[in-house]
Formats: sequence, structure tokens, C-alpha cells
Amino acid sequence: MVSEPGDEMHDLTCLIKGCQARVYAPAGTHSICREHFLSYLTWRRRKGPQMFMKYAGMTMEERDPYVAEWANTIRVEEIPTASAPKT
Ligand SMILES: [Zn+2]
Repeated sequence: MVSEPGDEMHDLTCLIKGCQARVYAPAGTHSICREHFLSYLTWRRRKGPQMFMKYAGMTMEERDPYVAEWANTIRVEEIPTASAPKT
């Protein structure tokens, strides 16, 4: 069995649990889909320009905690979650 040529990313999906979209851009050492990338961008903008500049100079590993923090703010409706959402 030989792997399909030129399609190494075919099984990569979004970092966000429950999101089945294809990856669009890196987020730290992970990857996220276009929709979530835009969401992440907005989230970073809200943190202010300093955060934006700081983030740009970070390594992928240094970005991971921010990605994780942002990911916690994301709700994916498809997830049959056990955790009780704040209402
Ligand atoms: Zn996604």
C-alpha cells in the first residue's frame, strides 16, 4: 500500500473538538479551519494591539497556551457535551 501522492493533509481537521472542517491555518502547533481562524483573529484583536504584536513574535509552542485559552471560549454545537454551560 502506497500513500496517496500530494495529499498529506487529507486527514487533518480543525483543532476545535467536534469541528470537522478542513484545516486552513496554523494555530500554535495545531491547525484550525478558516471559520475558527477568523474567530481566533477576532479574539486576539480584542486582546489589543500589544497582544497582537507580541503574538507575532512568538514561536508556535509559545502560542499554544493562547490557542488553548481561545479554544475554551469556542462552542461547537455538534458536541454532545457533559459540561453544563453557563446560562
Ligand atoms: Zn474549526
